Amino acid sequence: TLDNANALDFAKGDGLLPALVQDLATGQIRMQGYMNLAALKQTLEGGLVTFYSRSKDRLWVKGESSNNVLKVASVHTDCDNDSILVLAQPVGPTCHLGTDSCFGDAKPSLAFLAELEAIQGQRLQDAPESSYTAKLAARGINKVAQKVGEEGVEVALAAVAESDEALLNESADLLYHLLLTLRVRGLGLKDVITVLESRH
Ligand code: AMP
Ligand code: ZN
Ligand code: ZN
Ligand code: ZN
Repeated sequence: TLDNANALDFAKGDGLLPALVQDLATGQIRMQGYMNLAALKQTLEGGLVTFYSRSKDRLWVKGESSNNVLKVASVHTDCDNDSILVLAQPVGPTCHLGTDSCFGDAKPSLAFLAELEAIQGQRLQDAPESSYTAKLAARGINKVAQKVGEEGVEVALAAVAESDEALLNESADLLYHLLLTLRVRGLGLKDVITVLESRH
């Protein structure tokens, strides 16, 4: 999963290089730590982000006591081989203060689409009484798909004859119901993105 591990120049950082961890699905930066060669190897081989902790003076698997681990998707090196980027799937909050990210609320705006998708998945699983999402999905794919059709028409009408506010609201409705349709079919935004990328 690493493009060029051997090129990394650990000597540049006296044996330790900074490693940024980014949420694979949302693009949110979760935390930054340091890796030595052993930490990098364990990260690549063990599948969980592992740092070298300067305060503990040993290898530190993020989540070793909290269980808030970071599952490795891929590892990348920067242009001059002195910095590491890990794309990961986080389990639970990453900061020991309880927030998702050590960098507080900083989040790329598109991240919310991935969050919304995750919330929809959660609602389908938990199916609470109060959930519109759970109720609509329980009525089956035909009902969900029908909503996409309706909202699509509403977007088109708003685009030609209504205010920006109306167009934005209808677009939000359409995106929400499109995501739900995909979810009910067991698909997600990333599957759509794969198609878009393949056409590019
Ligand atoms: P954990 O690796 O999540 O089991 O946490 C073990 C210990 O590492 C915590 O008690 C904190 O001292 C420290 N720690 C955990 N997460 C972070 C983080 N994101 N940044 C800095 N220190 C952390
Ligand atoms: Zn660099
Ligand atoms: Zn933190
Ligand atoms: Zn609408």
